[in-house]
Amino acid sequence: VDGIFSSSSSSNPSFFNRSFSSDSNLIRATLFPGDGIGPEIAESVKQVFRTADVPIEWEEHYVGTEIDPRTQSFLTWESLESVRQNKVGLKGPMATPIGKGHRSLNLTLRKELNLYANVRPCYSLPGYKTKYDDVDLITIRENTEGEYSGLEHQVVRGVVESLKIITRQASLRVAEYAFHYAKTHGRERVSAIHKANIMQKTDGLFLKCCREVAEKYPEIVYEEVVIDNCCMMLVKNPALFDVLVMPNLYGDIISDLCAGLIGGLGLTPSCNIGEGGIALAEAVHGSAPDIAGKNLANPTALLLSSVTMLRHLELHDKADKIQDAILKTIAEGKYRTADLGGKSTTTDFTKAICDHI
Ligand code: NAD
Repeated sequence: VDGIFSSSSSSNPSFFNRSFSSDSNLIRATLFPGDGIGPEIAESVKQVFRTADVPIEWEEHYVGTEIDPRTQSFLTWESLESVRQNKVGLKGPMATPIGKGHRSLNLTLRKELNLYANVRPCYSLPGYKTKYDDVDLITIRENTEGEYSGLEHQVVRGVVESLKIITRQASLRVAEYAFHYAKTHGRERVSAIHKANIMQKTDGLFLKCCREVAEKYPEIVYEEVVIDNCCMMLVKNPALFDVLVMPNLYGDIISDLCAGLIGGLGLTPSCNIGEGGIALAEAVHGSAPDIAGKNLANPTALLLSSVTMLRHLELHDKADKIQDAILKTIAEGKYRTADLGGKSTTTDFTKAICDHI
């Protein structure tokens, strides 16, 4: 199964920019346990890393209890500095209270750290049966603009306006990332997902940039698919797709749809790629307040995200060991969390993975 950065991936800048701890054998990485189920699943990752003897020293940062004026959000300046310095980190889900008048934590992270591409691998897990057994695709979401620009206001009473921003610079950057990813990971096709028939200016510019980049990669098949048709095709036959690149909001929605194809949000990892070689891995799912604190959460998505972090650091032997143990545990079926139809707690499932390492 292909990880986010398979063993064959080309060298990446962060490998040479690692931040080492005072014990120079350990690589320092930032950990945001996050909200809701975040601390429970982050604990699983820490336990699995200890068992696998991963040479990482975590620098833990919690979401603050008051707004930090330097970030205008509950995220502390120090936590952002930690990622900037370490260049690599793992993030648990962070809840976004609706309509509370401060910047979303996730948006702040993406903007402040310039995390321009969110890469979400989604593949059928061996031994875990869903309607599909041949899903193997990567969604690459533009992460900094589109409808997520935070530009919303009331025009007059009863009328609000939300601006969708698309820039040539951000579109070229994410398209370049997608094609480079396809080329270095043995992928054959890149599909640009859009609604340019209606959003002619914004999605039109996005497509123009994708076409421009596609010309530099003649070995990769390039196609354009309207988002509504894309949803239908994904549900009918996900094997039609390989790498999908798209503006921000579409990426948010399509990647959850893809998670549904393989068994749900408990299984899908992601990694945010930023300027200067930053990689901040995180699960696709949110803080799951309905099951928080109950020892019911499936830690697989965060664990597989941590595997993408290890691959980014080129610690492939550790990444393989942990990935194999997770997949084996799920395939055996004896220990599975409730979202996968099992009865295991988060801690029992984590222990079963550790027993396979
Ligand atoms: P959610 O992903 O938290 O939950 C959706 C459903 O999936 C729930 O039924 C939940 O129990 C289940 N689920 C999710 N992860 C699971 C796991 N690991 N194991 C088992 N079941 C799991 O989505 P939501 O309820 O819409 O959002 C809750 C909060 O999370 C909101 O404040 C939202 O803004 C935030 N959120 C954060 C991120 C992020 O930090 N990247 C992403 C999405 C949502």
